[in-house]
Amino acid sequence: MTTAPYEFFDLRVLRADRISPGFVRVTLGGEKLTRFAGGGRDQRIKLFLPHPGRREIVVPREAGLDWWPAWKRMDPDERATMRTYTLREHRREPDEVDIDFALHGDAGVAARWAARARPGDPLTILGPVQEENGGVDFRPPADADWTLITADATALPAVAGILAWLPPGTKARVWIEVDHAADRQDLPTKADAEITWLLPEDRTTADQAVRAATLPEGSPYAWIAGEASTIRALRRHLVNDRAIDRARITFSGYWRRGVSEEDLITESIAAEAAA
Ligand SMILES: Cc1cc2nc3c(=O)[nH]c(=O)nc-3n(C[C@H](O)[C@H](O)[C@H](O)COP(=O)(O)OP(=O)(O)OC[C@H]3O[C@@H](n4cnc5c(N)ncnc54)[C@H](O)[C@@H]3O)c2cc1C
Repeated sequence: MTTAPYEFFDLRVLRADRISPGFVRVTLGGEKLTRFAGGGRDQRIKLFLPHPGRREIVVPREAGLDWWPAWKRMDPDERATMRTYTLREHRREPDEVDIDFALHGDAGVAARWAARARPGDPLTILGPVQEENGGVDFRPPADADWTLITADATALPAVAGILAWLPPGTKARVWIEVDHAADRQDLPTKADAEITWLLPEDRTTADQAVRAATLPEGSPYAWIAGEASTIRALRRHLVNDRAIDRARITFSGYWRRGVSEEDLITESIAAEAAA
């Protein structure tokens, strides 16, 4: 029998701290977390919130590796609301995980939940039980001379994990957009990282900043994440204008303007069915 590299964890909120104007850090605990084993960097996890109007979190707990087809088959009016987030930190003894939620008004189920989270609230996550798992996308080739990173607030938790993981001395140029000066965080790293924070008053997006930058010599690995259309435009720039090999760029649309993750899931299910 193959062991599933992911399992459902039924957790409870231990603390919810407004760490800055734009972020809530939710700390979760639960007995089973002793089995949790993240791969660091941009380790993604799935969150499952109660379906609006329901109390229980309905997920296919017994489906193992087949959780995705099993979840798709569940009644959309009953199954939990699924969202994708990043593991900000996992601590042992006691086992606790942190998730940093970028707040974006009242429009989103997850951001709204985080803004109101209280100790004792339930949250189910689908998380890794093996450090080597497919939920880590930051995978620089061994021959990369330096690393280019761009992020908006939703990808700041991932950048924190990446910078903490980068080997000592790795050269990195990093651009991070946040909404408020106080959203800037200490990002401990042993890398030789030059971090540029971009605020709304700078009137420069990460995309514009990279276009204007003189980049280091050598062959880079690029990891870019944030709003989908911005990321697509930046990837085009890196491929077409900077001649960076596509295979050396990891790009992730973390959200799409005007579209909820629910709609993105419905889209992807329809595309799978059509294929
Ligand atoms: C691999 C991965 C890792 C991620 N990690 C994190 C993380 O650690 N922290 C985090 O905060 N987010 C993270 N995100 C992004 C997060 O999943 C999305 O922002 C998600 O849409 C939030 O769900 P919601 O229920 O709040 O909003 P939804 O219900 O999905 O969307 C409602 C509306 O809000 C808009 N919207 C969504 N996000 C934003 C935003 N940030 N700013 C402005 N408008 C927005 C949508 O376009 C839509 O119109 C990650 C995404 C991916 C793919």
